[in-house]
Amino acid sequence: MPDGDTTRQGRTLRSARALREAGLIPPAAEAAAARVAERYAISVTPHVARLIDPADPADPIARQYIPDAAELATAPHEVDDPTADGPFTPVKGVVHRYPDRALLKPLLACPVYCRFCFRREVVGPDGGLLTEAELDAALAWFEATPAVKEAVLTGGDPLMLSPRRLGAILARLAAAAHIETLRIHTRVPVADPGRIDAAMAAALDQDKPVFLAVHANHAREFTAEAQDALARLARAGVPLLGQTVLLRGVNDSPEALEALFRAMIRARVKPYYLHALDPAPGTARFAVPDEDGLALLRALRGRVPGHAIPDFVRERPQGGGKRPVGQA
Ligand SMILES: *Cc1c(COP(=O)(O)O)cnc(C)c1O
Ligand code: SF4
Repeated sequence: MPDGDTTRQGRTLRSARALREAGLIPPAAEAAAARVAERYAISVTPHVARLIDPADPADPIARQYIPDAAELATAPHEVDDPTADGPFTPVKGVVHRYPDRALLKPLLACPVYCRFCFRREVVGPDGGLLTEAELDAALAWFEATPAVKEAVLTGGDPLMLSPRRLGAILARLAAAAHIETLRIHTRVPVADPGRIDAAMAAALDQDKPVFLAVHANHAREFTAEAQDALARLARAGVPLLGQTVLLRGVNDSPEALEALFRAMIRARVKPYYLHALDPAPGTARFAVPDEDGLALLRALRGRVPGHAIPDFVRERPQGGGKRPVGQA
């Protein structure tokens, strides 16, 4: 069990019934949400629940986390493993697609479950925690693969681990002479910022640089608590990057993207990637056409500082890796 059922200020909502009791879905929507929950996990932390305006049917926070009956329909172009991690897995929990860097997925639990997640077929509260032996084998793979200069921890969400366990993984990777940098991809600073306490910041303060890529899609996710958590990490010497998924009805306007990227740089986060949606099952309602995405980025040029503009990328099918949108 990931040490994650965190409740610093209330209960994490994990079912259709809990969402209805909290007033986040109307009673008429509960049955469909329960059917979605049989297939895809639900989790709304108290921090995120407080951000949702239940009176706004188009609330951009709710849209990211509240299940919708549309998830039960898989469009013809949608696939279970859109980034094709499977064929690039040399040992359980590792994905090695580029020679110089590889992913480590120590667990598949997240603080929240995003309705557009590209790994939605595998993430969940009780899925994918590597056993001690599996984790040891994955770390041994990194130690025995000198071409890998960067270890990228993802999942699931690595910050769902306790600071002690995460710190031990980072320290072992950092001790390998050929590993130069470490990176963690996480939603915790904006989804459950209370987890970023002094012990967590200390766990990220290693002898080698630990970059942290924060997944955030809307300016309102940068609450005072989230900003405090990010400031704590910045003071621990952790360089902060931002990654965003371009999502219809969440951030697909110049105003929304400008507000988001400005909120990031105010929080010391450099916008790194804007991802085109990966075609995971039941996510079609979030799709934005590439031409519209390219036009949005053009609209940002000259409107925000250059360092507030991320690269717009998409995963190529069959595991071809990331490519700038608009290039073959
Ligand atoms: C996305 C990804 C990375 C990281 O790519 P960057 O462009 O360096 O952020 C590394 N390995 C795999 C398998 C990936 O999918
Ligand atoms: S936090 Fe990331 S891995 Fe977890 S559900 Fe959201 S998109 Fe998927």
